[in-house]
Amino acid sequence: MLIPCFACESRFRPDEYFRACHDYHRGMDLVAWTCPRCGNRDELRVLPGELGFGYPRHGRFDVSDRVRVPGLRRRRQDLRLDISLDEEVWRVPTRLRGLVGAH
Ligand SMILES: [Zn+2]
Repeated sequence: MLIPCFACESRFRPDEYFRACHDYHRGMDLVAWTCPRCGNRDELRVLPGELGFGYPRHGRFDVSDRVRVPGLRRRRQDLRLDISLDEEVWRVPTRLRGLVGAH
């Protein structure tokens, strides 16, 4: 199971992919991700069994593309999102200032 970068089309094992997640935006329910290969920054929503990619619009995030990751689970904590798959857990902290997606 490999997860693609939509910019450079590299594919990553889940561990490599989720370690590159940073900044959980709790309000929008998004995590930011920076590609270890090309440096492209993307935002995605972690959902049970899949990842949702899309675009912020009118203060919401519309998922337009989904990548299935069987067994993927998520748990929202106060100041982070825990992503788990099989026995592994990746913790993505909430950035306390600014907004993900604000440029
Ligand atoms: Zn890339």
